[in-house]
Amino acid sequence: MNKRIMIIGGGASGLMAAVWAARFGASVTILEHNEKPGKKLLASGNGKCNLTNRMLDPSQYQSDRPELVKKVLHAFSPEDTCRWFEKIGLRTFDRQGWVYPCTEQASSVLELLLWEAERQHVHFKNKEEVLAVSRGDDDPFLIRTKTWEYAADAVIIASGSPASAVRGSSELARQLAESFRLPFRPFRPVLVPLQASDSALSVWNGTRVHAGVRLFIDGLPHREETGEVQLTSYGISGIPVFQLSRAVSAALDAQKQVTLLLDFLPEVSENELEELWRERELYDSTKPYGLLLAGLLPERLIPAVLAAAGLKKNIRPSMEDHDENGAVHVLLQLLKEFPVRIRKTASPEQAQICSGGICLSALQDSLCCRTVPGLYAAGEAVNVDGPCGGYNLQWAWSSGFVAGRAAAGGN
Ligand SMILES: Cc1cc2nc3c(=O)[nH]c(=O)nc-3n(C[C@H](O)[C@H](O)[C@H](O)COP(=O)(O)OP(=O)(O)OC[C@H]3O[C@@H](n4cnc5c(N)ncnc54)[C@H](O)[C@@H]3O)c2cc1C
Repeated sequence: MNKRIMIIGGGASGLMAAVWAARFGASVTILEHNEKPGKKLLASGNGKCNLTNRMLDPSQYQSDRPELVKKVLHAFSPEDTCRWFEKIGLRTFDRQGWVYPCTEQASSVLELLLWEAERQHVHFKNKEEVLAVSRGDDDPFLIRTKTWEYAADAVIIASGSPASAVRGSSELARQLAESFRLPFRPFRPVLVPLQASDSALSVWNGTRVHAGVRLFIDGLPHREETGEVQLTSYGISGIPVFQLSRAVSAALDAQKQVTLLLDFLPEVSENELEELWRERELYDSTKPYGLLLAGLLPERLIPAVLAAAGLKKNIRPSMEDHDENGAVHVLLQLLKEFPVRIRKTASPEQAQICSGGICLSALQDSLCCRTVPGLYAAGEAVNVDGPCGGYNLQWAWSSGFVAGRAAAGGN
């Protein structure tokens, strides 16, 4: 009889594990909570799915065993990912290493993955919420769902993390770790928006701006990112903010003060900005501050910057009784270094991923639990997280491949 493998979760890692376990001869069933597998995959990359990164640097992942992360990524590398998806019918392209389907639609990735799984005779049991897994008397494992009890020779935990509001995001990995006494790090939101405590929030809500973001912890410079920043009613979001959010979360946990300095004109140096401002004033000295800023900033940012500088939009820099030099200096400084004090990270529902999960120290190189032969883990259920840029899906593909192949008895 073929080895019976049950995979808990039909996300990126579960689907990958299923395809490879079936290719190595196992009889594979995916138990999926949602009515369809792959919901988070559909939401990935703003619906475009940044599926891997050709310039992936394994040292950028956080985990409790970096050397195992490297081994797993080596077993199924970003190049393997591109080649394999090409083989199952997906054309891809990359932007500075970030790889997307050429359709720029995550649905293309999911459709082909599902087809491949069906082609390998993977069985799908959707709307099946797994409640518990235990050792059986006659069968190695028993998996209890809301409606049924399944028997299996091997189980792969691919139930992801509680990150995002996508239905099915869950803490099941923590419950299973507890029941099998596996070391586990609590799930925490990373790649997450940041909540601020500034009065600017109410006016700039909904603004998207290309900006530099410099992170200061207890007043000391830490890291800098540049890209599209989204300004919201509660704070700040976007890829540059996500990339800094892990360090922010750690600093806030350590009760440190966190400030972001936003540079709204990152391609213009301070001297160039002063020169540019002088030219505009010389050209038309009747223009008030609001109009001088109109050609430099998105509309909703202007009142936020003027309020922070203590200026009104109708005042002209050259008006009598107005300290032009002082006011302009403060204003230009705010365009390059607009301070945002961070209170906390947003909730897991707003996060792209969570750190934490089943510790790699609990797992062998095959991703099988050292203390529970036949029980494997992959994807975000495991204590590995990476930055934006295709890192987290690559981990899902690589770890799904390693766990699926090993569970089926492949090399
Ligand atoms: C909005 C968003 C955008 C993202 N964009 C990118 C991107 O562009 N590139 C990138 O690399 N990463 C991206 N990520 C992260 C990436 O999507 C995840 O890291 C990846 O999907 C994790 O795969 P997984 O298989 O571990 O978990 P998931 O994809 O979350 O799959 C877990 C599955 O398990 C199921 N499940 C959970 N509990 C149970 C249960 N009790 N019983 C049965 N089934 C259960 C869930 O329904 C789900 O289908 C993004 C994430 C989000 C939220």
